[in-house]
Amino acid sequence: MADKTKTAELKEQIMMTEPKGVKALSKEEIAKADEFCVGYKKFLDNSPIEREAVRYTVELVKKEGFVEYDADAQYNPGDKVYYINRDKAIALAVIGKNGVKNGAKLAIAHIDSPRIDLKPNPLYEANNLALFKTHYYGGLKKYQWTTLPLSLHGSVVKIDGTRVDINWGDSEDESCLCITDILPHLAQEQVTKPMAKAIAGEDLNVLVGSRPFDTEDEESDLVKLNVMSILNKKYGIVEGDFLSAELCLVPTFKSKDVGFDASMIGGYGHDDKVCAYPAVMAAINTQMPEQTCITYLTDKEETGSDGNTGMQSDFLRYFIYDLANQDGVEGYRALSKSTCLSADVNAAFDPTYASAYEPKNSSYLNNGVVISKYTGHGGKYDTSEASAEFMGRVRTMLEKNDILWQVGELGKVDGGGGGTIAKYVANMNVDVVDLGVPVLSMHAPFEIVSKTDVYMAYRAFSVFFDTNF
Ligand code: MN
Ligand code: MN
Repeated sequence: MADKTKTAELKEQIMMTEPKGVKALSKEEIAKADEFCVGYKKFLDNSPIEREAVRYTVELVKKEGFVEYDADAQYNPGDKVYYINRDKAIALAVIGKNGVKNGAKLAIAHIDSPRIDLKPNPLYEANNLALFKTHYYGGLKKYQWTTLPLSLHGSVVKIDGTRVDINWGDSEDESCLCITDILPHLAQEQVTKPMAKAIAGEDLNVLVGSRPFDTEDEESDLVKLNVMSILNKKYGIVEGDFLSAELCLVPTFKSKDVGFDASMIGGYGHDDKVCAYPAVMAAINTQMPEQTCITYLTDKEETGSDGNTGMQSDFLRYFIYDLANQDGVEGYRALSKSTCLSADVNAAFDPTYASAYEPKNSSYLNNGVVISKYTGHGGKYDTSEASAEFMGRVRTMLEKNDILWQVGELGKVDGGGGGTIAKYVANMNVDVVDLGVPVLSMHAPFEIVSKTDVYMAYRAFSVFFDTNF
């Protein structure tokens, strides 16, 4: 082999090289990634909405020795607890040798995903069809949600105070629901409109029935009555109960490997269960850390993190205050020394839509976890931006542990933008940076991720929990 030129040597020393991506991984490591994703796909399929994600997480962690948190109990290093917030968010904590005296380690992902919610008074009949009125949740392209098989998930609270959990349309032998669209032949007006206006929010009506109730009586609204009587038989609910309900429509399909090489996973709700599951698994596999490690799965990220189950709520703050109290330190001091990985997805570079991205600062499928120093939009509005110092610590940690990672900005500077929960965590006086998985077709009913990236997220959260900052 020819000797390297002096210039080549210098380049090697002081210039960045092209990321090797998945080529840097051994066969064994790729096999581990594939194995890890078997569990991930189960998590994804069982967690289309936040309530279900919480339930499934409890199921997973209970088997691994986590017990329900009791604010009045005393905990010892190595103890593992889970703490549920209104059935829609959940914190997992592994108590450290030093508790939270030197701060907690936080990995925070969200378990809500864009979807179609029912309006409080949804059911109506028009032209002998029964339909639901809806109000979409989160940022979605409305046209993507028509002509898809949909299932209904959520909870209804009856007038007597009892709650019924609903899951209609997922099993093979159960019917699905569907939002219709107009045929191309009659869509001359629709197809000339800008995409955002082609289908209006008020047009996302869901077809839920077409046969009238079986009766000799001459009554109106018999198709609607028939639907209501089916729901009444199965769930014991009446129409008024929709007023105290949270019902969501999500795609019926399960996750599926993508590509002839099965290197990717397609599914509904990768954003952000693809970070939630690795963060849960990191908590499960962390034993006796120095600092208390907390995985928090929050709700309402897709609509701005407001509300008592969103990241802007004081739930996590109070939890850390409680833990600090046990350790004999002020809550705000524990919080001030805490560090956080805001575990959320980023947009992977898509060659078909290359012009939307700035290639040097975009994330790519199979290049590992994405670190986003800042999110937001325009001139760095609405972002906490991680400091050079914190970026430095995280970078060193990832390099030392051979974790595939990359940096990524969301698209071009003036191309739009988006945020994560990072800024709300930073506002609590915590050092935080975004670290997550690159996703193709983000916010679509069928999003795509790479298996090795999912596994790298798990490794990143694991070493974060094990590293002393
Ligand atoms: Mn997200
Ligand atoms: Mn999102």
